[in-house]
Amino acid sequence: MGYVSVEDRRAHQKAWRASHPDYNRTKCRAWYAKHRAKSVAAIVMWQKNNRERVNAKNRAWAKKNADKKSAAGRAYYEATKAEHQAKSSAWKRANADRVRAYSHNRKAKKLGVGGRYSQVEWLEVVARQQGLCANPYCRKACDLTQDHIVPFALGGMNCIENIQGLCGPCNYSKSDTPMGEWLIRYARNRRLTSA
Ligand SMILES: [Zn+2]
Repeated sequence: MGYVSVEDRRAHQKAWRASHPDYNRTKCRAWYAKHRAKSVAAIVMWQKNNRERVNAKNRAWAKKNADKKSAAGRAYYEATKAEHQAKSSAWKRANADRVRAYSHNRKAKKLGVGGRYSQVEWLEVVARQQGLCANPYCRKACDLTQDHIVPFALGGMNCIENIQGLCGPCNYSKSDTPMGEWLIRYARNRRLTSA
């Protein structure tokens, strides 16, 4: 089939495409399916090399679709909230000492108290105490919790030398009392309750 001119041919092609709307789409899809891995790799590579353009486009989309985006985010958050919270509390329960060390290190930094201890150093303390509460009147074998022998409030540091392992109830009872003072009180209470 011959064409009179380039314009003529373009017009003809345009008309043909208009009357076969699915042809190109189908062809594109088939090609894409066949070359999917390559296409995706090419897209990823392009995005990597055009990070700024991609970010700008994403920002523009997010701005234009703020409602849609936050609604979708909220819906996802709401739908998975319970699951995330359950997972997070289970992890915190199973890693109570890590959570406590994190909070000690954070608090020390915030208060400008010197020292910082690691999980390894803490586990060495537990091993040295053979997993028993450091209170000589208690000596319970349990999951020990970190206690500052001299509390921050009384000038104690957050270094491992000032850390001992107490059982939960002992740690709660001692709170911000220095170890010596607390032991005297503990022994006295003990005599009173056992008398
Ligand atoms: Zn104890």
